[in-house]
Amino acid sequence: MPEAPDTQQQIDTAVQSLDAVIIGAGFAGLYMLYRLRGMGLSARIYETGTGVGGTWYWNRYPGAACDVESVLYSYSFSKELEQEWSWSERYARQPEILRYANHVTDRFDLRKDIRFKTRVVSAVFDETEARWLVTTNHGERISARYCIMATGCLSAPKQIDIPGLEQYRGETYFTAYWPHDGVDFTGKRVGVIGTGSSGIQSIPIIAEQAKHLTVFQRTPNYSIPARNGPMTDEQQNKVKANYAELRHRQYNDWIGLVGGIEPVPTKIGNALDATPEERQAEYEYRWNLGGLYLYTSYQDLFSNPEANETVAEFVRDKIREKVRDPAVAELLCPKDYPFGTKRLCADTNYYETYNRDSVTLVDIKTTPIEKFTTKGLTVAGKEYELDTIVFATGFDAMTGALFNIDIRGRGGVSLKDKWAAGPYTYLGLMTAGFPNMFITTGPGSPSVLYNMIIGNEMHVNWIADAIDYLAATNRRTIEPTVEAEKQWVDHVNAVGEDTLFVKTNSWYVGANIPGKPRVILPYLGGFEPYCKRCDEVVAKDYEGFVKA
Ligand code: NAP
Repeated sequence: MPEAPDTQQQIDTAVQSLDAVIIGAGFAGLYMLYRLRGMGLSARIYETGTGVGGTWYWNRYPGAACDVESVLYSYSFSKELEQEWSWSERYARQPEILRYANHVTDRFDLRKDIRFKTRVVSAVFDETEARWLVTTNHGERISARYCIMATGCLSAPKQIDIPGLEQYRGETYFTAYWPHDGVDFTGKRVGVIGTGSSGIQSIPIIAEQAKHLTVFQRTPNYSIPARNGPMTDEQQNKVKANYAELRHRQYNDWIGLVGGIEPVPTKIGNALDATPEERQAEYEYRWNLGGLYLYTSYQDLFSNPEANETVAEFVRDKIREKVRDPAVAELLCPKDYPFGTKRLCADTNYYETYNRDSVTLVDIKTTPIEKFTTKGLTVAGKEYELDTIVFATGFDAMTGALFNIDIRGRGGVSLKDKWAAGPYTYLGLMTAGFPNMFITTGPGSPSVLYNMIIGNEMHVNWIADAIDYLAATNRRTIEPTVEAEKQWVDHVNAVGEDTLFVKTNSWYVGANIPGKPRVILPYLGGFEPYCKRCDEVVAKDYEGFVKA
């Protein structure tokens, strides 16, 4: 894992006092700082990296791009910003998204309140003072009334769980923290482990450079061509002229994939009520649109296995059409879990890459990688010699980044202990016993099943309003009641159980991390109903919260 680089900055070891500490300078942290500053509060972001952007700062691997259209995956809080900024492509690539994050930072003059190259190591609640004592790896100590965990859902990379990596003499790279200067694979024998979104985006580009690429696949994924391309002036103008309407549709949807340039209908009925011909036409339409729109067609896809199988088989047939070697095509076809219950991927030439003579697919489902050796790794007793290994092995999602900080609430109870059997939150925003600690897009909220920038905006607005409420009502703290939290967790689990998501081994249920409790992490009830619930809670004087 990357450590925070040494800092030359002068460290004040006396306890500093702020209204709020924000952890993380991704899209949530930046907007949180903007809001709190606008309310006249003193707030500072602490960030491990040397720059802003969070996930888009770290994940610089070749091919990294957003798979939600950029006109949707962008801030909505500033109408001026919406009009000023133009995206060059339908799906912006990582460098452009990072430029956008930097533009926002400078446009709203946020940088002066961000402490870079600094990792928060602990946050401890002082019950007497009702304040958080936050400590950094440089020994800085900050006392703050509010502590906002804008730490990201996919920001703690998974530890390698294959033995012997220390023996391997070649180069290793992790998609989750890619070198800033890039990597040249020319003439190299490269191995990629992992075929989730990061692997699927990077494999075609690595294959173009490498002498030989070997992909080690445990579970194949469903992937749809992104069909990325330049945004024309006409498209830009159309979006900008209709941004308010676009945002309205986005907010009032369960998943937010409503079409960027052209509206795309969502939840159009049940797959099993349509004829095979109608279904085929609908799936073709969405396949040709590109991106993730197969997710949002029929409303029974994620509750009815038979309905799901219709779209799953549609995608498998597309894979079979694209990949010349039938044996390789079958290996690439996901067959043992429903479509979309592992995060759907969007790609550019992913399946076509396996038609190259210089690319080999190795199935490690039945025979896992045994170990790394000095020259490469072994599978089923065979050694694969590799100059470079790329790990696209994913993240300890939604709880990993929080657990990397020693967070202690009332009575010194650690968050890790409280959540030992799975995360416990009320609305995914707060957890009982940890007053004034807010989590953006936390477990128990729609988070990763919605648009991360807009979902974070919604949470930041809710948090800012709650802080405002405390000031207006002359109170110091807010935290959920144990009862409200339990009811919410039961609801999140019940909604999850009604879907096919809980049946699949994915990071949505923590199944990718050995020993992690199997619990549905995001809320599957949809963004729009979730927002209504949050609004109702506020309207009922923060129902389910203790205010003191
Ligand atoms: P991921 O989806 O969790 O994929 C990790 C891959 O590594 C899986 O194929 C997994 O296999 C494999 N793996 C893990 N440990 C392994 C082991 N010990 N041996 C063999 N294979 C192993 O991670 P990701 O690709 O980084 O994506 C994570 C999430 O980030 C995505 O789902 C998405 O939400 C987000 N993301 C989005 C974008 C985008 O917007 N374009 C891009 C990248 C990531 P198993 O499936 O068998 O566990």
